[in-house]
Amino acid sequence: MTGASQSLSASAHPFGLSLSKPFASWREKKRKPFVRLRASGRGVPPGGPSLYPPPVATQTRSEGAPTPMMAQYLALKAEAEGSLLFYRMGDFFELFFDDARTAAHCLDIALTARGEHDGAPIPMCGVPIHAADAYLARLIKAGHRVAIAEQVESPAEAKKRGAKSVVNRAIVRVVTAGTLTEEALLDSRAANWLVAIARVGERYGLAAADVSTGRFELASIAPSALDAELARLDAAELIAPEPLPGIEAETWKMGFDSIAAERRLKERFEVATLDGFGQFDRAALCAAGGLLAYLDEAARESLPFLRAPVARSSGDHMMIDAATRESLELTMSASGTRAGSLLAAVDRSVTGAGARLLAADLGAPLLDRARIEARLDLVALFEGDGGLRDWLRKQLRALPDIGRALGRLAAGRGSPRDLGQLRDGLDEARRLHDRLSRTADQPDLLADLLPVLTGHGALVDLLARALVPAPPIDTAQGGYIAEGYDAALDALRATGGEGRRAIAGLEARYRTQTGIATLKIRHNNVLGFHIEVPARNADPLMAADSGFTHRQTLAGVVRFNAPDLHEQAMRVGEAGGRALAAEAAHFEELVETALGRAEPIAAAADALARLDVAAALAERAAESGWCRPRFDEAACFQVEAGRHPVVEEALRASSARFVANDCALSEESRLWLVTGPNMGGKSTFLRQNALIILLAQAGAFVPAASARLGLVDRLFSRVGASDNLARGRSTFMVEMVETAAILAQASPRSFVILDEVGRGTSTYDGLAIAWAVVEAIHDKSKCRCLFATHYHELTRLAERLDALSLHHVRAREWKGDLVLLHEVAAGPADRSYGIAVAKLAGLPPPVLARAKSVLDRLEKGRAATGGIAAGLDDLPLFAAAAQDEPAPDPVRAALAAIEPDSLAPREALELIYRLKRLQAEGG
Ligand code: ADP
Repeated sequence: MTGASQSLSASAHPFGLSLSKPFASWREKKRKPFVRLRASGRGVPPGGPSLYPPPVATQTRSEGAPTPMMAQYLALKAEAEGSLLFYRMGDFFELFFDDARTAAHCLDIALTARGEHDGAPIPMCGVPIHAADAYLARLIKAGHRVAIAEQVESPAEAKKRGAKSVVNRAIVRVVTAGTLTEEALLDSRAANWLVAIARVGERYGLAAADVSTGRFELASIAPSALDAELARLDAAELIAPEPLPGIEAETWKMGFDSIAAERRLKERFEVATLDGFGQFDRAALCAAGGLLAYLDEAARESLPFLRAPVARSSGDHMMIDAATRESLELTMSASGTRAGSLLAAVDRSVTGAGARLLAADLGAPLLDRARIEARLDLVALFEGDGGLRDWLRKQLRALPDIGRALGRLAAGRGSPRDLGQLRDGLDEARRLHDRLSRTADQPDLLADLLPVLTGHGALVDLLARALVPAPPIDTAQGGYIAEGYDAALDALRATGGEGRRAIAGLEARYRTQTGIATLKIRHNNVLGFHIEVPARNADPLMAADSGFTHRQTLAGVVRFNAPDLHEQAMRVGEAGGRALAAEAAHFEELVETALGRAEPIAAAADALARLDVAAALAERAAESGWCRPRFDEAACFQVEAGRHPVVEEALRASSARFVANDCALSEESRLWLVTGPNMGGKSTFLRQNALIILLAQAGAFVPAASARLGLVDRLFSRVGASDNLARGRSTFMVEMVETAAILAQASPRSFVILDEVGRGTSTYDGLAIAWAVVEAIHDKSKCRCLFATHYHELTRLAERLDALSLHHVRAREWKGDLVLLHEVAAGPADRSYGIAVAKLAGLPPPVLARAKSVLDRLEKGRAATGGIAAGLDDLPLFAAAAQDEPAPDPVRAALAAIEPDSLAPREALELIYRLKRLQAEGG
């Protein structure tokens, strides 16, 4: 009896989330539930999991030695070094000792202390299996890693090994932030990178994998590009074999071996040489080795999904360092939210995969004009044909995320629903193909995408025949294989159905037989099918010859069994169990068939994402009249009526109008110095131009009436210290370090915006630094640059620096009030309007009056002395002098290095000859 009910109750889903493949198949084969160690099968009691009697304490043990279960726990815990250990017990994952303390604190669940170890109570807490996803998500988010120790045999099997044997457990998976595949733990609109870094000589190898979709990239880069590459990837988890200065990576030592890695990659992708994927140097391979070893450790026996590696180089895309990404608020606003970022203002994608691809595109704008134009051609197609765009977006909106479904299936954590998603997604892909191939004048990119959308017909047909229309995530209840797919399965189901009908018939019969109208046949996981009557009617059934067997007495009801019921229950149970097993076998087969086409499916997923991005950018462009950018060989930047997408959107929300502004940089006039009052719109102007070039090279239309742009290799944005929150170092120090990086890295093809650089220190220092930085950008970097400043004195530089021109944001005082026009005009600002801005901000009138009189005094002083920039007119001489500073004298240097007391006479003589030689060379 219990056997039958147990096989039906196999729904105790042992954490579908963490099942490794071997364990999953073990489970499917045996179809046996785990014995519940808890008092009942009713899930968590209202008081929380810790109210349950602790299983640890129930173990008998010899004096002083840990119980066998505790010994097993401790061994697993040692294996899970550095991770919290989720120890499977029945329907719970339990945590003990420090893990329990950490988890209880982080999850806000009750910490109890039961049982003993080394004479002290054992702290413990637990999470129920059915809610484990949510708890795991919180632990991972808080920066923990979690090792999952599952039961890998049934209690019956353990018993066979010996009466007191503890059920064998093994760590089947280590859940880490960078190795997730579960929908519940991932953001559907963001990639999830695990990145390994290896340093080999003067190169850094980067290996990046997003196992949720199988994306896999390898790169070898120069140290100067490391920051930008890491910022682009924005890894969920970063590992390195040794601590690296300035980089927060976990230390992971295994596998960083380029030769072994190359061998593994060849084996894994079944190729004789990796050349077909691109060129990978030792640094890249070394990183790949570390990454693979880490994935092995995290996933244990089941291999995560990896597509063939893509060779990345920092020369493929515009270099944008972390400080620039932050200051331009590309994916996150300054307040740390997605809202208010460029991405949020641009993203009109309708699928998760599209959102991920758009984020990747904006994070890595291209340098290859042909590729950019190819993307723009596709956007232009959808921008020009609103009907086609609307239709496409409507179709895409209903599309499942087949890339992630494939990732879960490949990782052995897939469900029938994932197969259903592949079926529906690939079927839709074919429909899109049929419609889009009728497009006249297909852009090249579309012609490239179309073929991968078809060719999945056989798989789609198979899945359509095999699966019910909406297959479930949970396999335990069965019912996901469609009727008509397998005659034997249909027969088993029919038998089960007959049994259930017979049981329903029995209920009526027992009622008549006993005269108890409230008699019911019920089912639960402990008793299976049973007869239940109110306690007051139970007596006649208790009689020895009643034909009923007593099973359980509860407060108001008494439960019985009967031979007929038992027989039918056995029939239902057996048929049910065999049907479940048959479904599981079909599921495994279907998964295998689908995975046989993993690469073409992943390619289709990519193509769908690309279509979504193109249609989304077209939608965005159509919404606000954005234009297609044109590119020019020269290092120019000609934007008419440019706008800032985020500020414009914010203003529109408050019904205010955004004032569009032109910007015209060329090789001859490449540096604009922008002055004007605070709040006048300087920062906005600077940023909108940086965003326009970024959008353009990412293959998007831009918020302007027209744009003619020369490609940019590196984009830099810096904001003066007081706007920038401290990141550990003093803000001024940060500002200077970041400015130094620009001066070191910007090339004549770079684009730089500098907003109030130098403001983070005293007036004199600040002016001096700003002055020198402008000179260096103009003379050395020779890049396109917009420089906003409130130092009026800098305008004098226009007299000397040919390619520098002066601009200002317009403002007017009208009836004593300041009116900010947000209009960029030629020439310097007439004055700073500081006090007018202070008035605008609501400074009290007495303070304003006082400030005015102080200002009058200062200005009088300035007129008399020439102001803080007095004497700067002589500066060119000093600058020239600094450049011509004589090289150090080698003879003097050699003399200074001599330590007379340590010289032998012979060495002294040699030294004299050397000095004579040096002198001769110098002369
Ligand atoms: P600044 O850098 O000169 O202090 P900001 O660029 O920070 O000024 O702009 C201040 C505010 O002015 C913005 O938050 C925005 O509301 C408004 N603003 C800026 N530029 C424009 C514009 N072109 N059109 C309309 N309003 C603008």
